[in-house]
Amino acid sequence: MSTPDTFALVDCNNFFVSCERLFQPELRGKPVVVLSNNDGCIVSRSGEAKKLGIPMGGAFYKVRDIVARHGVCWRSSNFSLYGDLSQRVMRILQSFARDVEVYSVDEAFLAFPFVREDIEDVGRLLTRQVEMWTGIPVSIGFAPNKTLAKIATDRAKKHPAAGGVCSLVHASEEQRNAVLAEVPVGDVWGIGRRMGPFLMQQGIQTAYDLKHAPEWLVRKHLTVQGARLVRELRGDVCFPLARTVPKKTIASTRSFRRYITDKRELAEAIATYVGRAARRLRGQSSYASLVTVYIRTNPFSTRYPQYHKSATVAVPVPTASTPRLLTSALAALDTIFAPGFHYQKAGVIFSGLLPMHVWQRTLWGEGEAEQEQDDALMRALDSMNKKWGDGTVFVARQGVQQPWSMRQDHKSRRYTTSWQELLHVKIS
Ligand SMILES: [Mg+2]
Repeated sequence: MSTPDTFALVDCNNFFVSCERLFQPELRGKPVVVLSNNDGCIVSRSGEAKKLGIPMGGAFYKVRDIVARHGVCWRSSNFSLYGDLSQRVMRILQSFARDVEVYSVDEAFLAFPFVREDIEDVGRLLTRQVEMWTGIPVSIGFAPNKTLAKIATDRAKKHPAAGGVCSLVHASEEQRNAVLAEVPVGDVWGIGRRMGPFLMQQGIQTAYDLKHAPEWLVRKHLTVQGARLVRELRGDVCFPLARTVPKKTIASTRSFRRYITDKRELAEAIATYVGRAARRLRGQSSYASLVTVYIRTNPFSTRYPQYHKSATVAVPVPTASTPRLLTSALAALDTIFAPGFHYQKAGVIFSGLLPMHVWQRTLWGEGEAEQEQDDALMRALDSMNKKWGDGTVFVARQGVQQPWSMRQDHKSRRYTTSWQELLHVKIS
């Protein structure tokens, strides 16, 4: 692939809050925050909440005073809603650019094989289209590489008068330098929380300073990635677009050798299918956010009464962990199982899939450590089964029925992925 000439970063504005507002218009114009797992930390803030000084990532209990005083609304994370809206946004982006890298749930890099004079018009068209079709406001920045595109996007967000679009593609060297001089070094894409303060100590305060950092300092203190980043600030292209196109759904379904009438046996079959599908999920490095289970009798049988039903359950936090997916699958089975039928077939379908790294960049707070543990456990399980044969290690169903529930007191409905939770509109 030849090097693209223009990169763009599309970033959804206050994404989780925007998703909540879409179906709860009463939240518009008000300060709103979305909380992480167990309602612990603030992971998304509306513009109004930012103005009140509520910090990103901060513990919710620490801002109780501000919340009470200013009537700040809060919601628990609703990942099935965010995951679904994210996919809708990404699908629209794919109609604008052939090369799209989904970077996190609410960010994507785009690459174009050309330099256009009217690139800002393309940007305005894109932001308008996304907002019209999904209701999610986005910002977009254009530049000759990813690092500068990130800076352009941040600038587009800070200057709403520009309609959420900023381009550094045609900027002169002086103009670009002026922009870089306004960016604190810690805000540069890829400069971590530790590297930022260290660079400041070395007298490198802004992206402009980093661009002009002496070679010895770059070589001595920055990683290979860091050195590439400096080159991108200077205008080179060092980070190509990574392709992220995993399968959209993963299913495992099978007919039984004989009829099953017992719920416990049916659950065992479901557990086996979950195990199989979860391994494929991990094989393509994805997390699932929705689990569908279906069961049916033999449609050709004239001897027994017919029954078929399916249910979809949202995983509390997107995952590739067999036990967690199984917990959701069994919850789905509970809602559809009817006694007295001769079941012939069952299936499990995972959807709302996104690459693991995409979710990992999005989920933070207490869930992170839990997820790392899950992933490590599943890697161990997969490698043992690979080494000693399938079924060497598996999940005992009894072991996963332990109540594992999260506190999510203020969760909104799954407006776009659950028939039961669709938005009701009263017409008088
Ligand atoms: Mg965002």
